[in-house]
Amino acid sequence: AKIKEVEFVKSSGRAKDCPRDNRPEFAILGRSNVGKSSLINALVRKNEVALTSKKPGKTQLINHFLVNKSWYIVDLPGYGFAKASEAARMDWSSFTKGYFLNRDTLVGVLLLVDASVPPQKIDLDCANWLGRNNIPLTFVFTKCDKMKVGKGKRPDENIRNFQQLIAENYPQHPPWIMTSSVTGLGRDELLLHMSQLRNY
Ligand code: GDP
Repeated sequence: AKIKEVEFVKSSGRAKDCPRDNRPEFAILGRSNVGKSSLINALVRKNEVALTSKKPGKTQLINHFLVNKSWYIVDLPGYGFAKASEAARMDWSSFTKGYFLNRDTLVGVLLLVDASVPPQKIDLDCANWLGRNNIPLTFVFTKCDKMKVGKGKRPDENIRNFQQLIAENYPQHPPWIMTSSVTGLGRDELLLHMSQLRNY
C-alpha cells in the first residue's frame, strides 16, 4: 500500500479534459484550511508535493497526481472560502459536480472534515449531496490530535455529531477514518483502505 512515487500529470478545467487512461482514482476534497495539503504530504511522506491547487489561478482546476505509475490522487478545488462570492461558490459546485457525476474511473471520494470544530453546514451539504448521488465516499476526519479548545467539544464528539447529522442520506454509514498529520494517526489505515478499494 506504500506510496513510492508521485508525479504531477496535469491540471484540467473540465471533467472531460481529465486523463483518459482508465487508471483508478481518488478525489480529495474539503473546505479550504481543512488540512488537505498536510494530509497529502503525510501520505506521500516525501518531499512536499506541490499542490497545484494552491497556486493563484489554478484554484479552479482538477489536478491529477499519478502514484506509483498506477493510480491517481486527484486534488480538487477547496470549497467554503469565507470570502468567496456567491457566484464563485456556484462556480465551484457546478464544475466539481460535473466531475463527480461523469468520472467513471473514480473509485472513491475522500471528503476531509475538520474534527476539531463542530459540524459545519457546508461540509454537511457536500456530504449529503454526495450521498444522494451515490458517489462512493470515505470520511477522512482531520486534526484529530487537537484537544478541545475553550467551550469546544473533543474531536470524537464532533465526529459523532457529524455522523448523526448525515445519517438520513446514507442507508449505510460510509467508511470513516480519524487522522492527524501531526501525529501520523490514520495514515496507514487510509493507505490500506485505498488499496482495498482499488483491489490491489
Ligand atoms: P489546506 O488548505 O486544506 O491544504 O490546509 P493545510 O494543510 O494548509 O492546513 C491548514 C492549517 O491547519 C495549517 O495551519 C496546518 O498546520 C494545520 N493542520 C493541518 N493538519 C493538521 C493536523 O492534523 N493537526 C493539527 N493540529 N493541525 C493541522
